Amino acid sequence: MKKIIALLLTLTLCVSSFGLCASAAGCDCENTPVVLVNGINSRDLIRNRGTGNAEVVFPFTANDVIDLIKENIGAFWDALDGDISAENEAIIVSAVETLLEGVAMNDDGTSKYDVVADWDWPARDVHREGGRFTFIPDWRLDPMETARQLKEFIDYVKELTGHDRIRIIGFSQGAIFLNAYLALYGYDGIDACVWNCGAMKGLEMVGQLYTEKIHVNSEALIGFLNESIGNSFGDNLLSLLTGALLDTGVVDNVLKITNKIADTIVNDKVIRDSVMRTVGKMPAMWAFIDDGYYEEAKAKMFSAEGDAEKYADLIAKIDNYHYNVMVKCDEIMDGMRDACGRIGVIAKYNRYTTPLIDYYNIQSDGLIDTVRESCGATCADLGTTFGEDYTQAVQDGHNHVSADRMIDASTCRYPENTWFVKNLQHSDGCAYLDALVNFILNADHQVTVQEREDFPQFSVYDIASGAAEPLTEENASLGAADKTAGGFLAFLRKIIDFFRSIIEMIAAMVR
Ligand SMILES: [Zn+2]
Ligand SMILES: [Zn+2]
Repeated sequence: MKKIIALLLTLTLCVSSFGLCASAAGCDCENTPVVLVNGINSRDLIRNRGTGNAEVVFPFTANDVIDLIKENIGAFWDALDGDISAENEAIIVSAVETLLEGVAMNDDGTSKYDVVADWDWPARDVHREGGRFTFIPDWRLDPMETARQLKEFIDYVKELTGHDRIRIIGFSQGAIFLNAYLALYGYDGIDACVWNCGAMKGLEMVGQLYTEKIHVNSEALIGFLNESIGNSFGDNLLSLLTGALLDTGVVDNVLKITNKIADTIVNDKVIRDSVMRTVGKMPAMWAFIDDGYYEEAKAKMFSAEGDAEKYADLIAKIDNYHYNVMVKCDEIMDGMRDACGRIGVIAKYNRYTTPLIDYYNIQSDGLIDTVRESCGATCADLGTTFGEDYTQAVQDGHNHVSADRMIDASTCRYPENTWFVKNLQHSDGCAYLDALVNFILNADHQVTVQEREDFPQFSVYDIASGAAEPLTEENASLGAADKTAGGFLAFLRKIIDFFRSIIEMIAAMVR
């Protein structure tokens, strides 16, 4: 069972949409071209692209997953019952690994097969029509290698448009490639820069996965799966997995687990094996691990006899990014600000991240922790607010505490240049967010959160209407967390209520 849960986690990493659908921007020819650096899942990965044998190796199709489950339904059923045999565990693990084979890597961190993103450099110059030039990475590769490809792409855009300067957005994992680019090539030729829900400071989830700190709670797992079904994760493997199981009549077993509070601490070599056979050999995955976890993660993942030699090239790649880019993140971002004088950081909050980590109630955009993507905001745990007597951590003469009292932006690295959108999921956009990005990119000076009433530090996305607006006392209670993670939160409340009633009962008896 542990091995399957570890695999589910690695799959969560893979299928979580780190990508962004390009959306129109409102620039004219007065403005320099905008390059959007995208991340995971923004385009399919294709094996043997351009040949007769071309096939999509990522993401998996619904049919791939459903077939896999149907072929091995006995083993999956066994797993759901909670007492999986070693034999059936092996069946499931090998079935899931088959799914990942197309994106498999060599021990040196290069692709095992001839796989590329399904993407060509744009032939047409769209900058006069307000289009952005989107860069699509192979999200598995060494970020330094991807940064070299980004350099070629930027040179190409400059040539195509006749401009020698650009503006740039690093979205999600794209912020990792953006910072790697800045570390390698410096700041010349960039007029403005936005880190939008950037992963440049890592993800709690990945750090915990790689250091085997995952605290698996089957109740939380089911809650997360339920959330995935209820959300717009149409092609999310997890929702397909549970959806397919429900289709084949396993509802009773799902409920059995839902009603069983079976915590499992995963702390053995099972995770190590599952991770190293799949995402562990993708250098870019290591770029999601922050400095607090990094060396410990390496010690755990490369702990077997001969690993240091076997993975020497991979280790050199991940160390290069980690020590030359990630640990220098603040320095790199400061350098960009000083060079171009037009930066912005955008973060989202009030969404549940995977409840499989110890801090399942950490503020996040559904994937990346808000504290990290905002470069240091102080965040109340999800579902809570700062106490009545909370005062802003850094008193700088402005208010930086959100009207809902969930975020204190005064501790951000750039408190005047960091914006927050509440309730909007990591990979989702909206017209307001687009306008905010353009506000930052299009100005002829460094814009601030005080500058415009329509773009204050905090805004709120209304899931029902699909629109965002400035966060105020009036709309501060508009939530997403309760709605999207309802099953999980409702479950927690029931448990708390249950214990409370027992305590009250005992108290009444001794009185
Ligand atoms: Zn132009
Ligand atoms: Zn301030």
